[in-house]
Amino acid sequence: MPERLGPARETPLFECVALIGIGLIGSSIARAARHLNLAHQIVAIDASDAVVARVRELGIADEATTDVAAGVRDADLVILCVPVGVCGRVAEAMKPGLKPGCIVSDVGSVKASVVAQVQPHLPAGVHFVPAHPVAGTEHSGPDAGFSTLFHNRWCILTPPEDAADEAVERVRAFWAAMGSNVEVMSAQHHDLVLAITSHVPHLIAYNIVGTAADLETVTQSEVIKFSAGGFRDFTRIAASDPTMWRDIFLHNKDAVLEMLGRLNEDIALLARAIRWGEGDKLHDLFTRTRAIRRGIISLGQETPEPDFGRRRESQ
Ligand code: NAP
Repeated sequence: MPERLGPARETPLFECVALIGIGLIGSSIARAARHLNLAHQIVAIDASDAVVARVRELGIADEATTDVAAGVRDADLVILCVPVGVCGRVAEAMKPGLKPGCIVSDVGSVKASVVAQVQPHLPAGVHFVPAHPVAGTEHSGPDAGFSTLFHNRWCILTPPEDAADEAVERVRAFWAAMGSNVEVMSAQHHDLVLAITSHVPHLIAYNIVGTAADLETVTQSEVIKFSAGGFRDFTRIAASDPTMWRDIFLHNKDAVLEMLGRLNEDIALLARAIRWGEGDKLHDLFTRTRAIRRGIISLGQETPEPDFGRRRESQ
């Protein structure tokens, strides 16, 4: 998997980019944007004094502040990188500072809810192009970010139907410059697709690790000691940020419940196949699922290596 960013641009794509929420995603954008010269100025905004102080120490932005309205004042691109549950509150706080003509975007893992929360706070003349980089790790905070996080990953844009083409193209160019493959779809479709590819798998991981932790006949130390590959992989996912994932499930409720219903039906069929010794049914399913994994690897979205190719290089 390519891990290197291309050369820096001679002229930046934006004069000033303001990032709100400097955790894994916000700090990764800051690092990539700086490395690639995508913005003349990068302003980092976070609710936490400790995060702002750390951003200054790391030197990943030109300015760092807790004042949202002041921080976005000069920005021609503002990206909300906060948990999806606070997007409405943050949009309300930034409203007085937004420059006419600026583009507001986000990175939330859920799209319809973010659109509903943010859009009402945007003044006329401000463009809104929601985005979701389908890239991440189980780590949080400004130290967790790295500039190659978005390289060769998908970024899904969900612009409203009346979005200005030029604004959509500028956001597309920003993500493409960071190495992402950009695709456009509706917010509703995004939420359905991500429910099955990301949200339900996380719920299953949280559930299986929680169930193992609650077992009485198998001790917790045995679960840890004998954790084989399968369980270990679930624990990585189940270590993901609790605030972020609580918000995702609460804000993509309908799509997640729809997919969970389908999953419950399929699990009942698997249980039946095991009970009645229908090995051919199990073998057929496991053969189809193996082909899906191989398809993901051949598309370059995963490596066959046992560590899942998640070794990172910091730049
Ligand atoms: P993170 O590492 O926890 O960072 C979020 C940052 O936002 C934290 O510094 C947090 O500060 C700050 N924050 C929270 N509320 C705020 C507010 N009201 N105003 C300003 N700052 C605030 O989270 P992340 O992983 O970067 O995720 C950020 C967004 O990216 C989420 O919407 C998530 O759905 C999306 N996303 C995440 C991934 C992933 O794998 N992690 C992938 C794609 C998209 P405190 O720590 O002090 O609360």
